[in-house]
Amino acid sequence: MLLISGDFLKVNFGGFVPLSTVDWRGKAVCTVFLRGCPVRCHYCHNLSLQKGQDLRDTGDIIAMIKESRIVISGVIFSGGEPTMQKDALIEMAKKCKEMGLLVGVQTNGAFPETLAEMIRQGLIDLVHLDIKTRWEHYPKLLKVKPEIIENIKKSLEICKNAFMDEKLPEFQVVCTLFPGREDDVMHISKETMGLDFVLQQGIEGDIPPLDFEQLKKLADKIHRKVRIRTREDGEVTYENNQIIIADSMVLTDILQARRNY
Ligand code: SF4
Repeated sequence: MLLISGDFLKVNFGGFVPLSTVDWRGKAVCTVFLRGCPVRCHYCHNLSLQKGQDLRDTGDIIAMIKESRIVISGVIFSGGEPTMQKDALIEMAKKCKEMGLLVGVQTNGAFPETLAEMIRQGLIDLVHLDIKTRWEHYPKLLKVKPEIIENIKKSLEICKNAFMDEKLPEFQVVCTLFPGREDDVMHISKETMGLDFVLQQGIEGDIPPLDFEQLKKLADKIHRKVRIRTREDGEVTYENNQIIIADSMVLTDILQARRNY
């Protein structure tokens, strides 16, 4: 839906973090949260953004970004699902680019046409794509329709091709793992060969999560370099039984940053 007020498109706004050092590795950014999501993850870190309405002028969001301009080099659009609001997201990404800022998107991949258009127009520098489980488990675990699963597959393909063609500078696939669903990693790994792959500890209520050692064993099974992200040990680049880089960024900081709006 295209909503216009005065000279600005309307955007269903979720929140704003003026400065984040955990949303884009090595960069200080601000983070814009957009409201609305067609997926229903059981562990959703931003339940309040799944639904609801808070319509703002995109110009108001750009004004917030301008206030952070002096301390940031990029903007992350997160959610909810930011690509659900194609026109508003593209409008804001264009303004960010005019300000000389990098643009990143955290997405569940449900709206491939938004990603394709942003790549076509050179408006996107980073995609974090969450692949939440193997394809056949999506309907039951995430309550999504078959067409959304096809869309997520398309998003993966679009971003992968753009990354290989050097039209998308950074592309990271994030796989959030829970006890009992360890096998997901083998399936998702096959589909994401050659890409930056993150094994993220899934945290849900009081259920004991997979720990660093368990995630390392999963990484050993897929024989590739991965980043392992846990709340206890931060983010670690790991390959062939070796920790290559340990990062001070911890999962709890990342999740906290996504709630601070
Ligand atoms: S895709 Fe993101 S915003 Fe949507 S339900 Fe899942 S975790 Fe929540």
